[in-house]
Amino acid sequence: MTEEKNSEKPFTVKCPTCGKEVVWSTDNPYRPFCSERCRMIDLGEWASGGYRIEGAPGSADQLDPGDFTTEEPDTGKGRGNR
Ligand SMILES: [Zn+2]
Repeated sequence: MTEEKNSEKPFTVKCPTCGKEVVWSTDNPYRPFCSERCRMIDLGEWASGGYRIEGAPGSADQLDPGDFTTEEPDTGKGRGNR
C-alpha cells in the first residue's frame, strides 16, 4: 500500500474560456482562468475585439491600470453609459 500519489495532488480547474486545464494555485492570479486574456474575454472586455483603454474623456487620468485586474470593470463603473 503506497498512497504517495494520493497525498498531494494539485487541484486543477478548466479555464471557462478556452477549456485549458489550470492548476489552482495562489500563483495564478487569474484563476480559474488560465491567463489574464481569458479572464478578460470572459468579462466581455475583449468582445468584438474592441478592447480599448477608454473611459469618459477627462477621467482617464483617474483610471488606474490595477483597477482592471482587481474588480470587474464592466459593472458599476458605467455611470449613465449602460
Ligand atoms: Zn484560458
